[in-house]
This record gives sequence, structure tokens and C-alpha cells, in this order.
Amino acid sequence: MATLRFKALEDLQNRLPIQVDSPAARVSQYYGENVFNGDAMREYLTPEAYKSVKAAINSGLTIDRRVADQVASAMKDWAISKGATHYTHWFQPLTGATAEKHDSFFDYYEEGRGIERFEGTMLVQQEPDASSFPSGGLRNTFEARGYTAWDPSSPAFIIGRTLCIPTIFLSYTGDALDYKMPLLRALNVIDKAATEVCRYFYRDVNKVVTTLGWEQEYFLVDAALYNARPDLVLAGRALFGHNPAKGQQLDDHYFGSIAERAMSFMRDFEIEALRLGIPVTTRHNEVAPNQFEVAPKFEEANLANDHNLLLMDLLEKIARKHRFRVLLHEKPFAGLNGSGKHNNWSLATDTGINLLSPGKNPKSNLRFLTFVVNTIKAISEYPDVLRASIASASNDLRLGANEAPPAIMSVFIGSQLTQILDDLEKSIKAGKMTPEHKTELKLNIGKIPQLLIDNTDRNRTSPFAFTGNKFEFRAVGSTANCGSAMVALNAIVANQLHDFKKAVDKRIEGGNGKDEAILKELQKLIKESKTIRFEGNGYGDEWVKEAARRGLSNLPDTPRAIEVLERPAVQKLFANLEILSEREMHARIETELEKYMMQVQIESRVAGDLAQNHIIPTAIAYQNRLLQNLRGLKEVLPKAEYEQASLTPLKLVRDITHHMEAIKTKVDAMIEARKKANKITDPKKKAITYCDEVRTFLPEIKYHSDKLELLIDDELWPMPKLRELLFTK
Ligand code: ADP
Ligand code: MG
Repeated sequence: MATLRFKALEDLQNRLPIQVDSPAARVSQYYGENVFNGDAMREYLTPEAYKSVKAAINSGLTIDRRVADQVASAMKDWAISKGATHYTHWFQPLTGATAEKHDSFFDYYEEGRGIERFEGTMLVQQEPDASSFPSGGLRNTFEARGYTAWDPSSPAFIIGRTLCIPTIFLSYTGDALDYKMPLLRALNVIDKAATEVCRYFYRDVNKVVTTLGWEQEYFLVDAALYNARPDLVLAGRALFGHNPAKGQQLDDHYFGSIAERAMSFMRDFEIEALRLGIPVTTRHNEVAPNQFEVAPKFEEANLANDHNLLLMDLLEKIARKHRFRVLLHEKPFAGLNGSGKHNNWSLATDTGINLLSPGKNPKSNLRFLTFVVNTIKAISEYPDVLRASIASASNDLRLGANEAPPAIMSVFIGSQLTQILDDLEKSIKAGKMTPEHKTELKLNIGKIPQLLIDNTDRNRTSPFAFTGNKFEFRAVGSTANCGSAMVALNAIVANQLHDFKKAVDKRIEGGNGKDEAILKELQKLIKESKTIRFEGNGYGDEWVKEAARRGLSNLPDTPRAIEVLERPAVQKLFANLEILSEREMHARIETELEKYMMQVQIESRVAGDLAQNHIIPTAIAYQNRLLQNLRGLKEVLPKAEYEQASLTPLKLVRDITHHMEAIKTKVDAMIEARKKANKITDPKKKAITYCDEVRTFLPEIKYHSDKLELLIDDELWPMPKLRELLFTK
């Protein structure tokens, strides 16, 4: 009895609202409290309903109508108990941001009475009036409806007073209009392919999940300064601004102590993230001033990606509370470090094995080599698909800059693993293996150390690096939806695993033993994929030349990168795997190109407006002051003295004229180029024209404006300067 009462008291205490920001609060007390997770489901669902939801999550089966009604009712009760009044389907259209349309639980009942209503049909499907989301021609406006459908594998959550239900977004014809649907398909495909290959080693594996641990980089700027910069507000990056005398050259910001206001912001958003079940663990200062990183523990990829999108939203919301604005753009400040979103990727079995982690014995090490080598081979077959998956107007500005991975895709594996693969390649001889030879090979494979993290060897210049027990895809941009990169990576690896399985089975049929067949196939793959491996400095110019010599492509901009997806072989790859049909792929290509074009168009318009409305008028105002000064000098000084005294103001007048003229000419030319580009109807041609003929003006206009910024009286300069944006803490 006593223990029972004690238990009841403990339950009660657990239900009291926790003062999450009190120093006494433990994370475990509030972690996931705003998520309709296993615990909440067990509390609000009947055991049968709970079981069938769990089964549907694990197997990907659909949930029947009766159970859906139960889940909806449970979700509603749970959400209302937490103060929610509305619900929304939360989805990921190809715009890049997440979308939501809130509906109230409230409904009329009878005789003017109301009721809170939320039924299975409302949970399972919703029809947002989504006609203005990009669809790349998949929806004509006359049948503009798309619909959202519940993704039970990602739990619902509450933000503010709204219950959010993760959903996929598709057209009435069933075509994917978002990032989530192809991701779920790709995760399913790699599950099947990897499970089959796993069975060579372990009979008890029934499922393989993709794990994703992202690292989100961002800048924080003071909100008041941000609001005085139309380029930051409208284009997300500084289109103008002379670099401050001190930038990141002292490396004094990286891992430095975190300033108080930033710290208090971080504490706040971390608490909110944890309440939403996002397992954030890491925070630190990044390389550039006012640049930071946050990273969670890795999770199953679909959930991890939802969590990343949620976190990006949270960053923006909480930043405002601290009178900050967060910049997620890949390159907000030219000349300073850009922001990425490293995607740490691996595969894990339902029996708890990380397939990219070496093990304790020859069998697990052969399994490790199998998955590593197949991943490398997949990338060597389709590096351009990977490149296309991370292409965006903003990431173009970061890739290939000297602090970011190059646009050339290659794989870094470190000296230890290089040695292991080289040895394996050499030691497998042609023909039938003798028992002694097999034993020797097994012994060598057994010697692979359990941990391959060589800390002296962490090449930060590679776009795709092996880091001990996972690969790290570093070229992903900070604004990106990880779904795009994860679809590409999982698709090409799944495809390779299919091929591998076929080849090994054939060798076995031909009389090879299983291990022998695997080893021989691995040897072949190691040989075939050598050109993609690069251990040197990815930032150097030599690599650009070397990569060209190796026949690796260097696709420096989005239109050229996206073009890759038009190749028939690529379209067939995605269609055969049933990840994206040719129609869906075509729609995606069009959408990405359009998005690129519009981003450049916005930048170009903002730059033009600012140049004409802010910069040139300021230059004229200062020039007038100089002219007044000159006239004054002339009035009061004797001629010889005037000639001397007028030298500086005269030089300034002339320099200002020169830069103003350059700006005016270039802005006019840019507007003309835009007019010409706007007449083009073909999306690809239009994007290429914007890339080659419009975007090129931006750094030129910036150059002259930055010169003016240096010449003109600080008091007159109309916009906050980079030194203020970057060093206001
Ligand atoms: P860094 O790359 O900054 O040195 P770490 O290598 O420690 O940091 O980890 C980076 C990220 O890798 C973390 O978000 C972590 O959760 C993730 N990670 C670790 N193991 C895996 C795995 N098996 N699959 C996916 N991500 C992983
Ligand atoms: Mg990392």
C-alpha cells in the first residue's frame, strides 16, 4: 500500500508542469513531452490499437480506418490535455520550407453547442488548397488540388497550441510533390537491398534502417541590424559589404567561449528542441564570427530529417525572442566561412549492428568491408547524382570556396582503410582459392581494428568522408532539406547492393564458396572505384586538374548539376527502384531550376534596388559635400594653397564618380540581361541564362559598392556594415 501511494505521488509529480528552465530540471524529465510518442500512445490508446500502429510503423503497412479513428481520438485527447486548440498536417513541399495549414478541433454540435472533433479521416488525409506550391507541371491549375497523407512513422508533435501531423504531400494522380515521399521510398528500397546482403552474414536480420546525424551550421545577427539590411531580409545574404579588417583569420571564434546572449538563445531553443524529442547534444562556435553549430544524436533518417526541419523552424522562432535573427543561408557573407549541414550516414540492422562499423571477428569485418566498398562503388558510379542532390543557388556560393568541399565529388577513406583496401585488392589472386590462402585472408581481415577513427587523418576538405563508423556527406548545404541528399545516396547505394547481390550469387552458382565469392567481388569493386578515392587537399587547384585528368566532373553551378538528372540512365535508375518515376523526376528538375532562377532573380532585383536607392544617392550626397568643401576652400584660400588643399577632396570626387558610374552601368546592363532572360520560356535555358548572364553582375556591382563604402563618410553609409553584423554579440 505504501509503495502504491508513493507511486501515485510520483506519478502526480511527473504530471506537474516542469519548470524546464530551472537549473534543477533534468532533460530526461521533459524530453519528448510535446511528442505523441510511444509513452503517450500507450497511455491514450487501447493495447490493440497501439499494437497495430507499431506494426504499421515497422512494416510500412497501412493502418485501417477503425484504428485510424482510435488514433485520431487519442491524439486529440492528448493534444487538448496539453492545451492544443488546432491541428495541422505538416508537410515538406519543394519550396524547401515546411508548410502547415491550421484547422480548429472545434466544430458545431447542436443547438448552438460546440464540440472538439478530430476523426480518422482528418488524421489520414487532408486537402490543403495547395495550388501555389511548386509542382513542376504535375498539377494543372484547373485540378490544382494536392493532398497530404499521414506518415505514421514520424510521431505527431505540438508546437504552441497546434498539433502537427507529419505527412507526405502528393498530387491526385499519386505523384510525389514533396521531399518526404521519395525519402520514404528510398529508405524502403535500401532496407530491402541491404537486408538481402546482410543475410550473407547474419540470418536473423529482418530490417535495415538508414541512420542520419546532421550537423546544422548557422549565423546569428542582431535583429535591429538585420532589419536595416534589405539584402539579408529579402535574399538571406549580404549582397554588399566590405569585409571587416578582422574576420576569421585569427581563428579565435572556432570553439571559443560562447557569448552570453548567444548562449541564452541556445539554452532556450535546446529546451524547446528537447521537448519536441529532438536529441540535440552538441553546440559550439564555428569558424566565422557569430557562426555556430548545433548537432543532435543520430536517428532513423526520416525522423532525423523531420527533426532537422523542425529545428530550423525553432531556430528562427527562438532567435526572434532574443532579438536575434538566424541566417541559415550557405554563404551569407562572401569571404567568410559558409554554412553546411554535414549528413552523417550509416546503416543499422534491427539486431543492433552498425553495418559501417568494423567488428570483432573476420565475419563482421567482411560485412564491414562489403558495405564500405559498395558505398564507394556506388559513388564512383553516380557522383553526379550526388552532386545534383545538393545543388541550390545558395550552396553554389559555398561549394568550391576555399573553406567548403569542392563541387567535385570524391570519397576520402583515410590512410588505415586505404591500406586495408589496397592489401585486399592485391592479396586476392585469380583462380580458385586454396584453403591456406583463405585462412590467410581471414586472418588479415580479422585484424581490422574495431575503431578506424584516425584523428590525425580527418580530412575536412572532402565532400564525402569515411569517419570511422559512418560516412559524412559534407557538401550538403545549411538550408537544404536532407531528404534530397538522402534520397540520392540511398538510391545509388541500394542499386549497388542489388548488383552486388546478383554478382555474388552468380559466383556462388559458378562454384565459389560464399566468402570467396564476396571477396572476389569486393576486389573487383575496389579496382573499379579507385578514381573516386581522393586523400589529398580538396581545396587545392591541383585537385581540380587531377580530377579532370581522372574524368571526374566538376559541375560548378546548379543548372549544370541539375542537368544530370535528365540523363536517361539516371532517370531509369530512379524509376527502376520505384523512388521517382520519370514524370516525378521531370517535375523535380523543373521545380529546382525554377527555384534557382527565382533566387537569382530576387538577388539581382535587391542588388539593383539597393544600388540605385541606397548606394548611389549616398555617394552623391557625400560627393556634394566634397564639392561644397572644394568651393569653400577656393573661396578662402590663396590659389597656390587651394591647389594643394583641393587634391584630396578632388581625388575623392573623381574616385566616387568612377565607382558610381561603374555601378550604374552594371545595374543597367543587369536589368537588360534580366529582361532578356525573362522572355525565355524553357526553364533550363532560363536558369542557365540567369546563371551565366545575370548572376555574374552581382560580384561586380558589389566590388564597386564596397569601394564606395570605404570612401564615404561612415555616418552617411545607409546600411549596417559587416563588422557590426558580425561582431555585435
Ligand atoms: P564531428 O564530425 O563534428 O567531429 P562526430 O563525428 O562525433 O562529430 O559526430 C557527428 C555526428 O555523427 C553526430 O551528429 C552523431 O550523432 C553522428 N553519428 C554518429 N554515429 C552515427 C551513425 N552510426 N549514423 C549516423 N550518424 C552518426
Ligand atoms: Mg562532422
